[in-house]
Formats: sequence, C-alpha cells, structure tokens
Amino acid sequence: MAKLVLVPTPIGNLEDITIRGLNILKACDMLFAEDTRTTGNLLSHFEINKKAIPFHLNNEHKVLHSAIKLISSVNLAVLVSDAGTPGISDPGFLLVRECIKNGIAVETLPGPTAFVPALVNSGLPCDKFFFEGFLPHKKGRETRLKFIAQSEATVVLYESPHRLEKLLLEIEKHCGAERQVSVSRELTKLFEETFRGTVAEVHKHFASKTVKGEIVVVVAGKD
Ligand code: SAM
Repeated sequence: MAKLVLVPTPIGNLEDITIRGLNILKACDMLFAEDTRTTGNLLSHFEINKKAIPFHLNNEHKVLHSAIKLISSVNLAVLVSDAGTPGISDPGFLLVRECIKNGIAVETLPGPTAFVPALVNSGLPCDKFFFEGFLPHKKGRETRLKFIAQSEATVVLYESPHRLEKLLLEIEKHCGAERQVSVSRELTKLFEETFRGTVAEVHKHFASKTVKGEIVVVVAGKD
C-alpha cells in the first residue's frame, strides 16, 4: 500500500536530522523536494544516492495530481522541504490533504522545526501558543497585528532579517512598548542568538546593527 512520509530536515545543524529520517530517505522509492539542489547537498552529505522530484510553492497546484499518481504507484514516497518540517510555512499541506482524499497513508516524522526551540527558549509561557508564521506583507497585515495585540496566548512569527525592524515597530505600536518579546536568530547555527526583553528594548538592540540570518519572533500574550 502506498504511503507518503514527511521527513523534517535540519534548520542549520546537520546533526539534527534523525536516524529514522535518514533511514527513510535511504529506503524511499520516490522523493519530492522543495529545492532539488538543497536536498541534493543534504543527501550527498549523508551519502544517499537519490534523485528528487521538484515540489514547491510555484508548482504544487500544477503537479498535485501527477504527484498523487506517482505516489500511488510506489510503496514509499517522501516529501522534504529546504529546512525544517514540510507544511510549516513550507509546501506540504496540499499534498497531505490530497493523499488523505485518495486513501494514501500519510506519516509525519518528528524532527527539526524553527518555531519550537524559539518558543521554548523565549522564556515566555508555552502552555498555550499561536503559530502565526509569516505575516502578509500588505493586505490583512493590520488585522493580524490587531489579533496579536489581543491574543492571550504567546504568538510565534517567522520573519526575514530585513523586515525585522519594521515588524518590531508594528508590534510596539499595536501591543505597547512594554510587551515582552524574544527574537531568536540563526537557531542551531554557529552564531545563534536569542535576545529577550520589552519590544522597545529588543527593537533598540537590533536597530543598532545589520541583522543577518533567519529569525523567529515570539510575542508574549496580553496580560
Ligand atoms: N519549515 C520550516 C520550519 O519547520 O520551521 C520553516 C520554513 S520557512 C520558509 C523559513 C523561516 O523559518 C525563516 O524565514 C525563519 O523565520 C524560520 N527559520 C528557519 N530556520 C531558522 C533558523 N535556523 N533560525 C531561526 N529561524 C529559522
């Protein structure tokens, strides 16, 4: 019976791939990848000789039905994204939904993802949290910021380094300068950094330098 397995891949440190993830990558009959070159580098590091089929945000609607046909024709297919867990701010959801509709078994391995270490490391309550991911750039952004300001649960956002300052200013405007936030940068990598404080303090810290690398912003819930 056909099965699709979603395999999380490292968000920086290659040692974070799981033994089960590697074994499934070695054993699979078919591999879908967000970026075949990025995945090719990962596979060659672990001496796995597999060719990946592209499955990314720009082609997922177009290739969905052919992907389902291909998956149905083999025992074990795998989906990976460039980094972290497929489906988390990455392609995955459409393929999972379509597999379920078509009676194909789906399994997701636990493994690397950026929001969990950022949330836990923030020191903010993580018994209840809301994963916001990337905010829309224009339409709907204001609505999401109002939602964040009113949320009683901790909120986790993904952001690019060049937009961090704008986001922190917006959080300050909507939530007030005293709201606690935590910014985690370059998780699992050599220059990993987590800076915590009020949004005004965190803004001041990052405004004084050029921000590089990948970023997760964690915002405390409303008191
Ligand atoms: N699928 C991934 C996951 O499971 O976390 C997320 C992919 S999304 C396209 C990329 C975003 O995740 C980055 O812009 C950043 O916000 C966050 N991210 C990924 N790797 C990270 C890292 N090493 N440190 C901090 N944030 C990271």
